[in-house]
Order: sequence, then C-alpha cells, then structure tokens
Amino acid sequence: MDVDCRIRPNQGSEMSKISFKTWKQVVEFHSPLKNGELDRQTIEIRQDPLTGHQSMLNEAFQGKIAFAFPETDYEYLRRRMDETREQCFMCDGKWRATSPRYPERLLPGGRLEKGEAVLFPNLFPLSAYHAVVKVGEKHGRTLDEFSPALLFDALSVSLEFIRRCFQADPDTPYFTINANFLPPAGSSIMHPHLQVIGSPMPSTHLRLLLENSLAYQRDKDSCYWTDLIETEKQSGQRWLGEIGKSSWFTAFSPTGVNEVNALWPGKSNFSEWDDHDLHSMAEGISRILLSYHQLKFSSFNFSCFSGPMGKSCPEFCCLLRLINRQNMHLHYRADDFYLQKLLKDEIIIYPPEYLASLMRKEFC
Ligand SMILES: [Zn+2]
Repeated sequence: MDVDCRIRPNQGSEMSKISFKTWKQVVEFHSPLKNGELDRQTIEIRQDPLTGHQSMLNEAFQGKIAFAFPETDYEYLRRRMDETREQCFMCDGKWRATSPRYPERLLPGGRLEKGEAVLFPNLFPLSAYHAVVKVGEKHGRTLDEFSPALLFDALSVSLEFIRRCFQADPDTPYFTINANFLPPAGSSIMHPHLQVIGSPMPSTHLRLLLENSLAYQRDKDSCYWTDLIETEKQSGQRWLGEIGKSSWFTAFSPTGVNEVNALWPGKSNFSEWDDHDLHSMAEGISRILLSYHQLKFSSFNFSCFSGPMGKSCPEFCCLLRLINRQNMHLHYRADDFYLQKLLKDEIIIYPPEYLASLMRKEFC
C-alpha cells in the first residue's frame, strides 16, 4: 500500500497542553537508484513528550514498506498452524492434563476458566506471578478472528488473577497484561494466549512512565495522560475514538510498528477496573487487530500497564500499547535490530497520522 506522507503532524496549537516535538535532518548521497545522481532525503525525528523516546520517519522509505515488511504469506501461516496443532498442549483439552496449577490457597482448583479462556501458571516464570491465558479453543487465527467476546473472557480471567494475587500478596502491586502472537512476536507456540506478570517492582518501562508522570504532575499541576487525551482529541490527527470511558489514538512517536495507544482516564490501576473497562479493552483490541489484518499484518504484541494496585495515583492512568511485529512468511527477519534493542529508537513504517486515517473507520 502506498503511503500518503502529505498528512503531517501538527506541533500542538498554542491552546494545546502538550506539544509534539519534531526536527529534520537532510542527507545527501549519490544513489545508484537514481543513476548516480545526487539524492537528497529528509528524515523527520519525533520525540515522545513524556519519555523522550525517539522515532524516525524517512519519506524516501515510504511506498517501500514491503522491503521491510513483506506481506503475510497466508499459505505459509496456515501450513505452520497445521504442522504445530497436534503437538499443541492447549488444543483438544490437553491443557487439563499437561498445564501446571497454582496452589489452592491462591486459586481454588489451580486454574481460572471463563468461556474458552483458561489461566494457569507459566512453567518458567519471570516474576513472582506469571500466568499464561489460553485465548480460545482454535489453534490458529488470523487477526480478523479475535472477537471482543473471545478477548473479554481472556482479559476477565487475567484481571481476576491479578486481584487474587494482590489480595494474597499486597507486597506485589505491579501488574501488566501482555500478548505475544506468533513467532515473529516472540511466541513459542502458535495457539493464541496472553501473559500476566506481577512483581514487587515495576518493569523498566512502567517505572519510567510512573516517574515521568509524577514529575509532570508536580511541574504542571496536571495529569499528563488526561492532557494527552485532550490534546489528541482536539488535534484529531491521530485520534481514533472512544469506547466506553477509554480513549484510542495512534502513538505520535511509536515504540513499535503501527503503535496504537488506549487510555483509561481516572483508572490508575487494575484494582479500579470493572467489566465495562474490560469490555472497552476487548472491543478496542478487536477493532485494531482487524485494521492490522486489513493492512496484511499478522503478528502483534501488546502490554497494558497499571499503576500500583490498591493505590490511587492521580498522575497516572492505565495505558495500552499495541504494536505489529514482523509478518509471518518463510525466512522472516526480525523487525527489531540494534536501533530498537540497543539505541532504543524506532522506525516509523506508516506515519501515525496516516495510520489513524486508515483505522478510524473501525471507530465510527
Ligand atoms: Zn493449539
């Protein structure tokens, strides 16, 4: 798909509470793609207003997205699904005999079930509480097959698990709900699933978000996240819409490919969530995944961040980051390299304003 780079970001009007910083660099070199003539390329660098995270947009790269993200090979994807199904411990009820169980004192019965969703411990946990959630009975899905009802059940057992863990262990207040879908996103199994992690300490990125949110609150006497919603809604360029009390928009300076953010203002942590919040998250994720599918992307990660459980933090609100990963095709290459892993920057594939224009129809 060709990309319309004429949709440029505003810098924030004088009335905006948050300004979006960009600057440009110009590169000149003789290009064999232009018969050795001097080529002049302009690179736009964006900086996240809260974290300073940088991302780069090179207009010369636009229209050449297939070079970095070849379209999903759906025949290959189906073949991998067929080849892995028989060995899958989540399929055909095999999880009942093969998945681990939590002690009765934490979860009576050892697992949590709702509809087709089942939560059980990760065999090799990375934190004090680290659960896996089976999402549905079907082994292989494309991104147009994640219904809100399917996601709601998976998110519902995730939240129930978080509540029970915090009730049993109030010294572990930091939780995230996460997803790796398909091997390019880091998943070791094809079967859709979530991962819930709880720890006494926040993750590196959550700590950064919480510290910078507090600094903003002290400096401006205002909540960064409600200011961000107000600014994005007013600008409209990256705005997707509202679902219930949640706000959805594309990230100005994305931390991953095609990043979409959702915010739950007034809800700083998961202990303040109810079924309405879960419904809005399930509905929004379902709509974004459908949009990704229409762009022929097939793989994703998401993380939903919460402030410390049981402690209202007016400077923060729950935040979802949802991104694409490399598409499924034979010999796919990782989409993150030194730029993301070590320099901690990101390439912009679709300009966020253009991405929003493609996705907005799912929110009308
Ligand atoms: Zn399976």
